Amino acid sequence: MPASKRVAVVGVGTMGSQVAWRLAARGAEVVGYDRFAPGHDRGAAGGETRIFRSAHFEDSRYVPLLKHADVLWDELQRETGRELRRLTGCLLMGPTAHHQMATVLRSVAEHDLDHEVLDADRLARRFPQYRVEDGDAVVLDRRAGFIRPELTVQTAARRAEELGATIHRYTPVREITKTGGGVAVRTDEGSERFDAVVVTVGPWVNDLLPDLPWEVEVRRLVSAWYVPTTPDAWFGPERPAFIRTAPTHCYGLPSPDGVSVKLGLSRTLHRLVDDPNRLERTVQPAELDTFNEIIGRHLPDLHPDPVRLSVFMEGYTESSRPLVGPLPDDENVVLLAGFSGHGFKLSPAMGDIAADLALDGGSARPIDFISTTNRTEA
Ligand SMILES: Cc1cc2nc3c(=O)[nH]c(=O)nc-3n(C[C@H](O)[C@H](O)[C@H](O)COP(=O)(O)OP(=O)(O)OC[C@H]3O[C@@H](n4cnc5c(N)ncnc54)[C@H](O)[C@@H]3O)c2cc1C
Repeated sequence: MPASKRVAVVGVGTMGSQVAWRLAARGAEVVGYDRFAPGHDRGAAGGETRIFRSAHFEDSRYVPLLKHADVLWDELQRETGRELRRLTGCLLMGPTAHHQMATVLRSVAEHDLDHEVLDADRLARRFPQYRVEDGDAVVLDRRAGFIRPELTVQTAARRAEELGATIHRYTPVREITKTGGGVAVRTDEGSERFDAVVVTVGPWVNDLLPDLPWEVEVRRLVSAWYVPTTPDAWFGPERPAFIRTAPTHCYGLPSPDGVSVKLGLSRTLHRLVDDPNRLERTVQPAELDTFNEIIGRHLPDLHPDPVRLSVFMEGYTESSRPLVGPLPDDENVVLLAGFSGHGFKLSPAMGDIAADLALDGGSARPIDFISTTNRTEA
């Protein structure tokens, strides 16, 4: 495929900024469109941190993709001189009998990941801020830590522009249609023709592609920040993020500024969003009940009055596996959608894979389990 292939990237957020970077790095002519501007906090990105981890709870088939992403995280940092990710570790904890803990233990062993298994005594000595329960397992994933989402999206988009990409800000795409051998992208300013289009509109996927054959549920996620009473425990030399599988799936990250700890909950606790353009951003006191239960049970040294609350959106598929690949009725339209609460860490790898798909029509990466090709369920 000629390097001068013209490719549109619709949605320059988490995935789109990485797609634009990887396409521009390969010499493609890239035109990005975003309804806002790269780095905004109205979709799935924002809220100052995202967890990066190498071990996977859900499915160990993600591990090779995480290794690919890991290399590209370092590459983007090296090319831009920005600290986008800091490897502070991540504690994965939950009942030993829980299937997700079994997947973690299997994936660290199978893929030879840098990790430690901690018993309750060692956890209490090293990380006294956590209270575990009898029968819990704790794994410290050492090739893990936090990513800065706003900085990452802006940095990847800027790097793409340095490499020749054009990004149209505050320019929502209204329609994508097939043309003879290519694709037309329509905005309020007119239509442009491309050889291929990568669609990365995140929670707006049903808006732009209402006839998608797979279901993507858009949900509203609340992030809540709490101040610890013993900051030294949270912000010492070891300051891992954590994920707990059960009884309530939740996660948290010490904030980079060393003041507060951000907490978040799992999919089932997030309300559905009817219209992504009218996201309810006010958090009602009752929505904090689950956070309070988690603090009382597992994180007793966090003061239960939040100092910050923010609301985001994310697209979820039924299986939680994203949709990556061409649309069934147009091989020149590559979709990346439905990252189901775990896409940020993968985003540079997804950008690279989308570039394979848009430029070469296929990818040698192990993506069968997330591919749109021959997919019968979401
Ligand atoms: C609160 C929260 C916490 C999370 N925590 C983690 C975590 O710790 N680790 C992890 O790996 N993942 C995490 N995730 C998941 C991860 O953030 C998402 O999977 C990822 O951000 C999805 O990226 P996206 O590109 O699909 O969507 P977005 O980043 O929202 O990008 C979509 C872009 O498309 C643009 N757009 C929409 N419609 C149009 C249009 N018609 N024309 C032009 N542009 C358009 C939007 O403006 C936006 O910029 C979390 C998600 C949330 C919400």
